[in-house]
Amino acid sequence: MANQKPQMDAAIDVLRREHYRITEPRKAMLATLVREPKPLSAEEIHKHIAATKADLVTVYRSLEAFEKAGIVQKFNLESGKSLYELVEENHHYHHIICRKCHRAEKLDFCEISKLEELAKHLGYSDINHVLELYGLCEDCR
Ligand SMILES: [Zn+2]
Ligand SMILES: [Zn+2]
Repeated sequence: MANQKPQMDAAIDVLRREHYRITEPRKAMLATLVREPKPLSAEEIHKHIAATKADLVTVYRSLEAFEKAGIVQKFNLESGKSLYELVEENHHYHHIICRKCHRAEKLDFCEISKLEELAKHLGYSDINHVLELYGLCEDCR
């Protein structure tokens, strides 16, 4: 699709700016994340980039680097398994995740900042939050 290249270029620009290494496996991982319409597990990403011969540990390490760079968001299924997706730099999303087929939709709206304010008033700093919603999608119902 025509609109995928800018997304890929933007992600690579961020890595370059933040001094992360840009390797062939990393490029293949980003291409996979751009191409796939749904969030993927590390194992799924690993399968997609088999041609690069990168091992699963490399995939995990790279995902960690992408997360730190703010271009990938990790979120957890109820099972504890993690999924990854590409996001605009440092933009976070919450999701509604189907607990049967693992389809996930972004909920592009966050009300938690009010709670974070409360936490700040209690004297906490570096506040972060994790929130995912789980349910059954229309197809699985
Ligand atoms: Zn479903
Ligand atoms: Zn939020």
